[in-house]
Amino acid sequence: MRDRDRQRGAIIGLAVGDALGAAVEFSQPGKFEPVTDYRDGGPHRLNAGEWTDDTSMALALADSIGQVGWDINDQAERYVTWWATGKYSVNGRVFDIGGTTVRALHRFWRAHDARTSGNPSSSASGNGSIMRLAPVPVAYVNLFPDRLVELTEKLAESSLPTHASGQCLSACVYLGAVLCGLLHGRPREEVLSPDWPPLEQITQNYMLHAEVDEVRQGSFRHKQPPKICGSGYVVQSLEAALWAFHDARDFREAVLRAVNLGHDADTTAAVCGQLAGAYWGESGIPREWRAGLARRDLIEPILDRLCEASPKKK
Ligand code: MG
Ligand code: MG
Repeated sequence: MRDRDRQRGAIIGLAVGDALGAAVEFSQPGKFEPVTDYRDGGPHRLNAGEWTDDTSMALALADSIGQVGWDINDQAERYVTWWATGKYSVNGRVFDIGGTTVRALHRFWRAHDARTSGNPSSSASGNGSIMRLAPVPVAYVNLFPDRLVELTEKLAESSLPTHASGQCLSACVYLGAVLCGLLHGRPREEVLSPDWPPLEQITQNYMLHAEVDEVRQGSFRHKQPPKICGSGYVVQSLEAALWAFHDARDFREAVLRAVNLGHDADTTAAVCGQLAGAYWGESGIPREWRAGLARRDLIEPILDRLCEASPKKK
């Protein structure tokens, strides 16, 4: 499998997961007909194959990296543009935006400092920065495994504009490192093992929040629903996405497991879709889901520029 297939897979996988989950977002598990394909309707009254804020924010982040390189104020500007104008939205409307994100974007709009716009409190630990993360590992995959300090900085910084708590930053660092390993074609078992050397190295310089470290130690292997829960809390969201991914047979099985946990289904599946897409590649995503994904015309040029932005290995 070519590297580009995995890079594209991480981004398209995010959007496909988001679109599959959108129809059952906020639903209790077991209280809806299990999802097997795109569906109309749901809380945002979308057409089948349309996606939500998770993909909009990922596209804003990807567009920023592709156009200007690494600049978190520019990233935050583009989130504000999405929120204010509907740019990067599937249908021109702004919907599904989280409360923590709105408050942070307000602060950014007033002070223009993305380093201080996100709320650092533990109580503001939603999953809004892991849901959009894939553009960072995709663009900076070649910092892995030789320049892990720089990679870690970028992964953590990408969270700051909207989600600045220790849980959120740590979740971005952990998920981003795992995504880099998968993008390099490393085996899933190796990358998800508790003593994976690149993560050992990262944690010598960057202490993961204790709850995220528990996930890294493999909490997702030992639990089942309802203890595994697709909630909006970043630690549970990450754990649920890894539970769905870690022993799935293929992209379809992984992402549908995540979707059918209900609750924040679009986001659990968007996180799982990043992992599954990085692992199985774009070519591992069912053809009908790729074909039925809305607004490929919006996604493709941004994705092309993002992949081109990937710095060459030194
Ligand atoms: Mg959403
Ligand atoms: Mg959501």
